Amino acid sequence: MDDAMEDLVQPRCRDCRVVMRTCPAEWLCPSCGWTIPIDQSISPPVFTGPSIWGG
Ligand SMILES: [Zn+2]
Repeated sequence: MDDAMEDLVQPRCRDCRVVMRTCPAEWLCPSCGWTIPIDQSISPPVFTGPSIWGG
């Protein structure tokens, strides 16, 4: 029943009401391209590197 857990943590786009896809560092709306940083709503990813956070 692991799939059920994934559904619970997936946010929806504020404009399209579409379930957003998960990217390495953010949520992405497949419809309009709106993104949300994952660390804004859920625990940050384990892999933190200068290429992601330091530019
Ligand atoms: Zn959208």
